[in-house]
Amino acid sequence: MQDKINQFLKLQEIDIEIAEFEKSFEDLPKEISSLEKKIDFENIKISNLKEKINELEKEMKNYNNEIDSIDNKISEQEEKLFSINSTKEFEALQKETGDLKRLKLEIEDSQIKAMESADSSKKALAEMEEFFTNDIEPLKNQIETLKSKLKEYTDKKSKLSIERDSKTKSLDQDFLTKYESLMVDNPPVIVPAIGETCSYCCLTIPPQTYIKVLQKTEIINCPHCRKILIPEENLNE
Ligand SMILES: [Zn+2]
Repeated sequence: MQDKINQFLKLQEIDIEIAEFEKSFEDLPKEISSLEKKIDFENIKISNLKEKINELEKEMKNYNNEIDSIDNKISEQEEKLFSINSTKEFEALQKETGDLKRLKLEIEDSQIKAMESADSSKKALAEMEEFFTNDIEPLKNQIETLKSKLKEYTDKKSKLSIERDSKTKSLDQDFLTKYESLMVDNPPVIVPAIGETCSYCCLTIPPQTYIKVLQKTEIINCPHCRKILIPEENLNE
């Protein structure tokens, strides 16, 4: 049992190393995705604004066509005015022409508004694109650097895991199963009992449990935190 404990204490050293190593880069994926989101956000803003400008330009073209067709109608009607003899018909036609002219003014008004909106949108787009070039484009390099760092870490971690696997093959499999199931809560898994107290959760263990820990004939778990308990002096051997 003493040998087993020593072997598993060595395994635990590797596991603590792996856990600390993982902790050192656990934030990297989050950092990368937050930078990517930032870039996406700016891209969406720019493409939305471009779409808006396109719409406004289409609108302006439509207004132009409408104005052209109204102009045609007005000149047709003005020509007709010369060939009319009845006053009533003349007045009716004149009223129609007046209505068309008013409509034309309204459309021209909307056209100016669309033009102004397009102008200010274009100005905003130029600013956005400048910001993108200066502030957002460099983030792409930053992401590449972080990604290669992450790859380096992942490679090193898988190397450590392979090393670990080769070690666990020669270990007592029953002890290993219990050890691995406790690894879910991260190392350490094996902790010393200091007197009748678990050094991990600091709770008191029953005297008969403590005696079993000192006897070292079987695996004893802390009744509170489930860690595997060993006598204190074992840690220094
Ligand atoms: Zn405990």
